[in-house]
Amino acid sequence: MNGSYDHRLVALSIVLAMVASYAALDLAGRVTSAHGWVRAVWLSCGAAAMGLGIWSMHYVGMLAFTLPTPVFYHFPTVVLSLLAAIAASAVALFVVSQTRMTIWQGIAGSVVMGGGIAAMHYIGMAAMRCAAVIVYDRGIVALSIVLAIVISMVALQLAFRLRDENRTSWRKIISALVMGSAVPLMHYTGMWAAGFHISGIAPDLTHAGGISTIGVVSISAISFAVLGGAIASSFFDRFLGLHRGDLNAARERELYFHTMAEAIPEIIWTADTNGADDYFNQKCFDYTGLTLEQLRGAGWTIMVHPDDLPVCAAHWESALRTGEPYDVQYRLRRKDGTYRWFLCRGNPIRDSKGKIIKWFGTCTDIEDQKKNQQILEEQILERTTQLADINTQLQNEMIEKDFARNELDRQNESMMRELEKRTQRATMLAKMGELLQSCVSRDEVISAALGFAPKIFPTVPGAMALLDASRSVAEVLGSWSSCHLATPVFEPISCWALRTGHPHLVAAGDSTAPCEHAAGVKNTYLCTPILAQGETLGIVHFQTTDEVPELDASELSFKTTFAGQVGLSIANIRLREALRTQSVRDALTGLYNRRYLEEVLAREVRRAARAAQSLGILMIDLDHFKSFNDTYGHDAGDAVLRETAASLTKSIRAEDFVCRFGGEEFVVILPTADLGASSARAERVRLKMKELTVLHQGRSMGMLTISVGVAVFPAHGTSPQELMAAADAALYEAKRNGRDQVALASLKSVEEAGMHSAEKSVASGK
Ligand code: GH3
Ligand code: MG
Ligand code: MG
Repeated sequence: MNGSYDHRLVALSIVLAMVASYAALDLAGRVTSAHGWVRAVWLSCGAAAMGLGIWSMHYVGMLAFTLPTPVFYHFPTVVLSLLAAIAASAVALFVVSQTRMTIWQGIAGSVVMGGGIAAMHYIGMAAMRCAAVIVYDRGIVALSIVLAIVISMVALQLAFRLRDENRTSWRKIISALVMGSAVPLMHYTGMWAAGFHISGIAPDLTHAGGISTIGVVSISAISFAVLGGAIASSFFDRFLGLHRGDLNAARERELYFHTMAEAIPEIIWTADTNGADDYFNQKCFDYTGLTLEQLRGAGWTIMVHPDDLPVCAAHWESALRTGEPYDVQYRLRRKDGTYRWFLCRGNPIRDSKGKIIKWFGTCTDIEDQKKNQQILEEQILERTTQLADINTQLQNEMIEKDFARNELDRQNESMMRELEKRTQRATMLAKMGELLQSCVSRDEVISAALGFAPKIFPTVPGAMALLDASRSVAEVLGSWSSCHLATPVFEPISCWALRTGHPHLVAAGDSTAPCEHAAGVKNTYLCTPILAQGETLGIVHFQTTDEVPELDASELSFKTTFAGQVGLSIANIRLREALRTQSVRDALTGLYNRRYLEEVLAREVRRAARAAQSLGILMIDLDHFKSFNDTYGHDAGDAVLRETAASLTKSIRAEDFVCRFGGEEFVVILPTADLGASSARAERVRLKMKELTVLHQGRSMGMLTISVGVAVFPAHGTSPQELMAAADAALYEAKRNGRDQVALASLKSVEEAGMHSAEKSVASGK
């Protein structure tokens, strides 16, 4: 290279490149946002402006380079370079205005744009006409082309990213400066590739001319003007576009809102800040049959049920005052005049500063929901009532169960008490039984039984009656707990228990088989027989009282046991008495026997000695009894002995004792009787004996005589043996004196008696 640069023009070229870059960034946005033919206009005009800018930068840069020889330019080629610049710019704007820019699109665009710029440059170089030969350094040319492509790639990326930036930002300015610096770099690298060798040969100046300073100024001015115009039109387009965009957006929003409002199956309304309604959706008109003109402002109130209007209005006024959202339920009138329930909500719409700009509301039909709710509530109420009924029923059952349990407890308690009472009674009965066993007489038994009876049967009055020895009369021997019986003595026939030998129960007022002895007893009564060894001895009579009118059947066994105990004890006593009688009585005559005589005599002698009283003893012997026996037989003899005993018993006082001493001998003990009384008694006995007529087998057996020996305490002895011996001696005396007489004991006879006794002992072998 053998030229020099005009730095002012270099600077101008760079400024041109920067302005062109800025215009390119702006134009990219315009082409992108425009549509249809507007887009085509923006693309072509933008490409022209941008291409002119790049071209003019190129030519100013070319003109900045001065050669020693004048330089001319071939105008068609110059125009061709301008077209190349415009074409490259058009490609660049097209690429960046696409919706998306893939990496391959980016690369392809860069190559085409870079190639276009490089073509513009070298075509422009080719337009030069001067006395010099241009030789290109191919390496630098290649470098310049690569630089053009790389710069195009950067430019495309920056433009794509900043195309939507509608304001003049620092990012945009810096990007324009970078791009504006890069484009001249490529240009001056291309210039560097060219070597100018002065040849001195005159150039072909056909269609060529030089470019003066005025030309440079003109090109620059035109370029600046065109670029400024492009930037200015971009600016205005942006501004107008924004305004237009706002209007469009508002219109779109409204359309959007209305579409949505119509799509929603509820009544939608809006109102202004004063509370005047200005919009209702079609649903509202369909429902109410009213028009927007009728509903507008406060016209909506005509569709609200008069009863609900005050509440509804109050909510709406409050919401307008406070700016708070609200909801309220009220009835809305349908076009057919009927009403349905609605849930109405109102919400304020606020701007970015929080100021209310509108009210938005919905009315949702809740009639069915309300009806369902009502049905549900009714069902719940019904179920609740049912549950309450069941509850009451359960409570009643519980009460009944409680009552039954209490009743059971009460019965248990009563049973326990009863059991306790029965146990006590049984214990008492056992005690009585024990006591009765120890009783030695019938009277003791009766007395003990009468004593125990009120304890064993505290609520049951009663009485006890026993038959007498002849069993012809029953005598009431005692009673307890104020038991009243009409008569103390009655015939056995007047008591059913005595007649049947079984307990006889007569219920109050029952006249089927009353016991006569209980005549006048109004309450229920029971007669239980007292049995002993199968024989009825008497009865225990039980009565109820007005306080306890019922006679517990379960106690019958107690009463029977009670009577049984008494009967058993009386039987026991009787057996004992019989046994005792048997031991002291003579079986044939029933008189005391000799063993008993000895016992009684010893006792009476002691008593007489103690009381200093007399005691007489009569020893009696039947005369010639042996021959009687022999004559009439032994049975007749026994009959005589029995009759004699009976006669003896009748002849003495109650306090006297008659004993069969043995065989046909008898001894009579006369307490307190002295010798005179004793001998008188003996004489009387002897005479009585003579009066006795004994019949045997229908035959009289003649008169029987007795001989009697009399001895008296203490005259004839102070011991039983002495007295007996004295009496025996006297008897022996009477026999010896002819029998049928009474002999008194004497000392002599006592002595004889001793001999007599000795003889008798020898005779009997003792
Ligand atoms: P005496 O006048 O001297 O008493 O003459 P006696 O015959 O009565 O006297 P003795 O003592 O010799 O006879 C008693 C008789 O009494 C003997 C006996 O046959 C009779 N005897 C004794 N015990 C009974 C009895 O239980 N029944 C009967 N039938 N006879 C009896
Ligand atoms: Mg004798
Ligand atoms: Mg005799």
